[in-house]
Amino acid sequence: MITIIAIDMDGTLLNSENKISKENIHAINKAQELGYEVVIATGRAHYDAKKIIEEVGLSLYLICANGSTIHSPSGTEILSNSAPYHEAREVIEWLENNKYYYELICHQGIYTPNWGKDVLQEEMNQLKDVLTQEDFAEIEHWYEKQLYQSGYVYMDDFEKVFQDEQKIYKILVFSFNDEKRKKGWDQFEGKTDLSLMYSSPYNFELQHPKSSKGQAVQYLRKVLNLIGEKSMAIGDSGNDLSMFEIVSDSYAMENANDDVKSKAKHLTANNDAHGVAQAINHFLNS
Ligand code: CA
Repeated sequence: MITIIAIDMDGTLLNSENKISKENIHAINKAQELGYEVVIATGRAHYDAKKIIEEVGLSLYLICANGSTIHSPSGTEILSNSAPYHEAREVIEWLENNKYYYELICHQGIYTPNWGKDVLQEEMNQLKDVLTQEDFAEIEHWYEKQLYQSGYVYMDDFEKVFQDEQKIYKILVFSFNDEKRKKGWDQFEGKTDLSLMYSSPYNFELQHPKSSKGQAVQYLRKVLNLIGEKSMAIGDSGNDLSMFEIVSDSYAMENANDDVKSKAKHLTANNDAHGVAQAINHFLNS
């Protein structure tokens, strides 16, 4: 009766300092000892997520780039769904023409234009006089978080990603400007074959239509023959909803937005109060 426990990273497993707490590590180890298959399901790139969990000594299956890739704990690739070049090119050209900060999560790096940081800094400057000090500090925090990942490849010209024949697993678009972000979302909603979702208040993401965290969890279940009736997913954002739909017990973090909370079966504590540990313990005892 082996079953799966799928855990999102940002806003869920990671606290606001981007660390995994001892309490969360302990709960994951306990579930593993009891025979549960604990997996990570994140929007981050594989090399980035792998580094984070290895730093704390965890060994887990990694569903990355919102379900576009699955890797075994030893690093073997089990699934890889990249965006078709034609669709990806259309999106990238529009983002370039309209000066959006974007990242292309690829198999060998996070490709991003070398002017991207300037765009975000300009957006921040426009907010500096409008926001309270506290709200601006929050914005700065998101900025640092976005730019603190592993594996950046800075592009003078976006053609580089095609010349390097990279598999594009995810296109992440990030903006602090609400109108600009909405304009981008509206530009692509229903108008591209790529799927569209968000994973933070300031981003949206495009990727292969057949990849989502939920579909990847299903796929891994089949591959690993995880036939237990009960299964669990924990998350905080729109890109977690596809997992919520296919598990018996979904848990939304207290720091999730209302839409995500309303679609979860259970609520758990926030990411600074070890919400993952609380949810796992609840699930194991239920
Ligand atoms: Ca998240």
